[in-house]
Amino acid sequence: MRFQFLTFILLFALLGCNPKTKDESTKKSKPAEKHKYAMVIHGGAGYMNDNPASKKANDLYLAVLDSVLTIGETILKNGGTSMDAVVECISFMEDKPIFNAGKGAVFNHEGENELDASIMKGDDLNAGAVAGVKTIKNPIKAAKEVLFNSRHVLLTGQGAQDFAKIQNIELVDNNYFYSKKSFDYLQQVLKEEKSSGKHSLGAEVEKTKKHGTVGCVALDMQGNIVAGTSTGGLTNKKFNRVGDSPIIGAGTYANNKTCGVSCTGVGEFFMRYAIAHEMSSILDHTDLNVEQAAEKLINGTLKNIDAAGGLIALDYAGNAAMSFNTTSMLRGYINPDVRYVKIFKD
Ligand code: ASP
Repeated sequence: MRFQFLTFILLFALLGCNPKTKDESTKKSKPAEKHKYAMVIHGGAGYMNDNPASKKANDLYLAVLDSVLTIGETILKNGGTSMDAVVECISFMEDKPIFNAGKGAVFNHEGENELDASIMKGDDLNAGAVAGVKTIKNPIKAAKEVLFNSRHVLLTGQGAQDFAKIQNIELVDNNYFYSKKSFDYLQQVLKEEKSSGKHSLGAEVEKTKKHGTVGCVALDMQGNIVAGTSTGGLTNKKFNRVGDSPIIGAGTYANNKTCGVSCTGVGEFFMRYAIAHEMSSILDHTDLNVEQAAEKLINGTLKNIDAAGGLIALDYAGNAAMSFNTTSMLRGYINPDVRYVKIFKD
């Protein structure tokens, strides 16, 4: 009897004291499927109108997002790199005045446009970013040059512009970014600021606005994830304010072992909560899958503190998350079998 009891204790110790241990080690949510390649894009979270009068404008957004998917898909399905897909897709969106990035960048307090962008590779965690640039036509291209051709991660202002010139990146006059719509919106925000007596940021003044930042995360057939983000920031930003978009770990992050992420929303919160890196950490250290992790951060952590925004992410198997706590987020996704673009919740 005593021998049997000792044998039982020994077996119990060998198999692990906690009978749940085996279950837990196999419980970790595996991605639903492994896709050969995949790409997810966003054109900003916000509060777009879903009424019939807005249908034409919304259809235009959907058509542009669809063209972006075609650009990325053509690169990825022909064996191109996720780096090329992300840079080409974001550059295309930067050239469209309908987004708050590149050409369509919003105005700062002084009536100028200051742009931010970043890009990160998930294979070696190398990254590049520019912030507060006023004359770089496509900030994402400059961010890529920082990644490949400098010892640094983040360059700002005039220094970033000097570097871009050396790298033969196209420079433009700050007027290139002028649009009447964005300038008029700055005047509206300034008026609101005057009457309220406190610093108002565009996104907060009117909950009908979309943020319009752009982002892209791609997984190529070599298994490499790249994530990038580009923005004009927030209307009426002051004192050379820099948001989350060019901050690695806040607005952008990529790690082949976990996921790639691009965020949009009021950047101060995404910086304080290191949202993009947090996505990667959650996948690394918990059982949650990419969609659950994104929901936890966007509709949990950030919603609880009234921080508006969203994120897109792709896990290492090409499964996507597209979470937002606003009423809309311009977004799209492709893998070899699936393709869609959307604005509002399902
Ligand atoms: N996150 C950007 C920023 O705070 C703005 C945005 O996504 O619309 O600069």
